[in-house]
Amino acid sequence: MIYKVISKSEFRKFIDALVRQNTSFGPRQVDRNTADEPIYQFMPVSSVDDIEFDYTLTTSSAKHFFLPFRDQLSRFSFQNSDFEQHVAYEADPVVLIGLRPCDISALNILDDVLLNGRYPSPYYLAKRKNTFVIGMDHLPLPDCFCKSLAHHTVSTGFNLFCSDIGEKYYLSINSSKAFTYLEEFQTEEPSCEDNCLMTRRRKLISESFRTEVDVTSLPSILDIEFESPVWDKWGAKCLNCGTCAMVCPTCYCYSVDEHFDIDLKGASRNRQLYSCNLVDFAVVAGGHNFRPKNGDRLKYRYYHQHRGFAENANQQICVGCNRCGRACLTGINPKAVINDLRMEKESCMTCVSPSPDRT
Ligand code: SF4
Ligand code: SF4
Repeated sequence: MIYKVISKSEFRKFIDALVRQNTSFGPRQVDRNTADEPIYQFMPVSSVDDIEFDYTLTTSSAKHFFLPFRDQLSRFSFQNSDFEQHVAYEADPVVLIGLRPCDISALNILDDVLLNGRYPSPYYLAKRKNTFVIGMDHLPLPDCFCKSLAHHTVSTGFNLFCSDIGEKYYLSINSSKAFTYLEEFQTEEPSCEDNCLMTRRRKLISESFRTEVDVTSLPSILDIEFESPVWDKWGAKCLNCGTCAMVCPTCYCYSVDEHFDIDLKGASRNRQLYSCNLVDFAVVAGGHNFRPKNGDRLKYRYYHQHRGFAENANQQICVGCNRCGRACLTGINPKAVINDLRMEKESCMTCVSPSPDRT
């Protein structure tokens, strides 16, 4: 990693040049919610003035640039009694500006699943390697809990990361491409004062979290609480809409379907993001549904986020952005569900009689 500082005016020139020369996306206000707060999303930008650098958090995550909601995996063309399959892995270069540390951590987790596993996804790889990621730090929202999962800072997974130290940005340069782009702009080695400001900035961010979720031993608590009534309680509220998984930066479950052209001369195989909360997620051929109850479906989303992956890859895949909690129409959120599970466990512990006095 190489560290530099850049004045904010020079930074704007750098970003402006970058977005004018490349297909770029950055945070933009798209609407206001019922509480009259701005709603931000990653949208196309063509100049630095389009970008809201002081945005809070986007409602959807940046995952959709790498895992589109619907993606064509291949095309088939039929001739006589034979067919040809056409597969394209290319992706156009894209610049993504303004990802928060938890968003970048989420990409690192998707990398583990989709690149570092036994069957790497060439579709994901093409998009990931052609995307120039610029991260930016921020003060957490009152309900962010990424610090509880140690995702409030990030040191890999981006090309360039910018920390706001007042008059300047403190740049962490993590790729030769970022270094080359920046060579045409005026940057400096960080001074002792800049390093001090950077340390203060990190401390301020760390001390600004208002929400904490205790995730220690959560994978084993989930094992113990498999039959807990907590799942029925929260499941009764769930609308099975799948919104939580759609906005989540790390939910990656998908379905695959095939469509024939109306003239039967061609067909396509498509991948579509899916959610384990949807009613038909566990339906198999013959119509049997392995998870017919709301509570079971909700439970499996939490098991995937906090247990299954932790067992295989030694980390929970939730990054603590609370997008799912904000988007859920019935108020189901990780903090409330996890706290309920902990209380279940603790009340069990208090039920256990103390060890008999051996004296
Ligand atoms: S967003 Fe809420 S209601 Fe919709 S599926 Fe997720 S938990 Fe259920
Ligand atoms: S807080 Fe919710 S949306 Fe964010 S990573 Fe965790 S499960 Fe996904």
